[in-house]
Amino acid sequence: MSSTQAGNNRPQQDDDVDAPRVPRRTPMACQFCRGRKLKCDGVRPTCGNCNRRGFPCNYTPVNSAEK
Ligand SMILES: [Zn+2]
Ligand SMILES: [Zn+2]
Repeated sequence: MSSTQAGNNRPQQDDDVDAPRVPRRTPMACQFCRGRKLKCDGVRPTCGNCNRRGFPCNYTPVNSAEK
């Protein structure tokens, strides 16, 4: 096996880069996390943030139908 040194010296990309508009990390944030702009882990029925604070975790289903 030849040990070819691939260019693995990539510059660290900022993790805080503004995402365009497609949050792929969190499928769905609960209401609490949404209101507080927290990073919801999406755990059900109670996410980590709500679980730690003892808040009721509510996940609002995506309602595409806007009336
Ligand atoms: Zn949450
Ligand atoms: Zn929650």
